[in-house]
Order: sequence, then C-alpha cells, then structure tokens
Amino acid sequence: MANDFRWSFSQWETYDACPSKWKYQSVLKLPRAAPGPAAARGLLIHSTIERYIANEPGAELHDAISEKYLPVFNEFRDHPNGDRHVEYKLGLTTEWGVAPGFRSSAWCSMVLDAVRVGTDWRDKDHKDKESIAYVGEWKSGKPKDRHTDQRKLYALGALIRWPFVDEVQVTTYYVEDTAPPQRLRIKPSAADKLKDLWKGRVEQMRGDHYCAPKPGIHCNWCDFAKKKGGPCSFGS
Ligand code: SF4
Repeated sequence: MANDFRWSFSQWETYDACPSKWKYQSVLKLPRAAPGPAAARGLLIHSTIERYIANEPGAELHDAISEKYLPVFNEFRDHPNGDRHVEYKLGLTTEWGVAPGFRSSAWCSMVLDAVRVGTDWRDKDHKDKESIAYVGEWKSGKPKDRHTDQRKLYALGALIRWPFVDEVQVTTYYVEDTAPPQRLRIKPSAADKLKDLWKGRVEQMRGDHYCAPKPGIHCNWCDFAKKKGGPCSFGS
C-alpha cells in the first residue's frame, strides 16, 4: 500500500458504520459540530483516569467511575519496572514496523489508554511467568460490537511495539460498571493473522471510491445528515 494513506481505528470504525460518513469526515474533512454533552462527559471521565494513572498532583477520578476499578488503575500507575505508559501514541508503517512519527507521518496511528509491560509483579516469585504486555482501554457507557475490533488492532500494535513479550492482553474496562471487562489474549503467533485481517479492511477502505451511504439509526447523530444541513440525502 502506498504511504500517502493514513488511518486509525476510529477512521475504520466510521467507515465500517457508513462509508459516506467516513468520506465526509476523513477524506473531504468537512467541518463537524463540537462534541455533545454525552461525548464531552465521556472525555472528562477518560481524562480523570489518565491523570490518575499518570499520578498528576490533585488528580481525582470522576464520580461516575466504579470504585471496583481502582485496583486496576493502581496496577498501571504503580507498575514497578517503569515500563508503563499513559495515552501511549503508537504509529505503524505499511510494513508493520514501528513508525518514527505519529498521525501526520505514520500509516496507522493508535493511542493506547494505558500499557504496562512485564511479568505479573504481584507474584514475587515470578521466575517462570511469561512476559506480558497489558493494554487497558477505558470506556464510559455500554459495550459496542466494535470494541472487539479495537482490541484486535491494539493487540497487534502492542505485539509489534513490544516484540519480546510472550503474550499481549488487551482489556476493555467499562468504568461505569455497565458490563464486565472484556479481554483479548494473544500470542505472537497470531500476529500474521491479525495483519491479514487489518490489511484487507484497510485496502477496502482505501480503494472505495464510491463510499455508499449506509443509513440507519446512527444517522440521528451524524453531522452530515440532511436534517443538520449536511450533504447527505439521508437522515432527514
Ligand atoms: S446521514 Fe446516515 S447515511 Fe448519511 S453520511 Fe451520515 S450516517 Fe451515513
């Protein structure tokens, strides 16, 4: 694939939901409305977790976050070997290597909410333990089908970035306790299969010159819908 195409999980997610919306948003880059109250609340919840794990002075978790996740946040915050990250920006090349840059120069860009790399440090005698890259994703609200796809991409990214680990675990935490955490555990041997999956998806997105509209309930929240004065003839 040529180097001029750039994508992220959220771009693919938009494309998969409605190719027209992706075209308006990411190809034509038409203006969008500011986030509504629900999205703004989600961003606020997310940012309080980020500040807490980064151990910023005075950081307090949002009231809507369930206390049961405090130990999870602490595992990331207090990981003793220092190989832990918050809002980790990872860029990939077309050859599935780590890109030197991020959004403006990487072929694929992703932001991992929290990462810790190493053995299970709670077990002091971990001689026989595998080395694991743990990736945590924080979600407000309820699970969505596409969170499964997000775990598949982020697991591949972690395998590429930390190639020495024996396993990657990507866990989506529904921090308002709307659902149990959902986890994907993969071994390095799964990398080729994941590369094929994402290569196929991205080639379809990149080669789609028509970008057909896919109307549905989601038109109600689309900035490009007819009723919002947008260019799409659906969503009236
Ligand atoms: S209004 Fe509906 S069909 Fe049109 S671009 Fe938006 S999501 Fe797609």
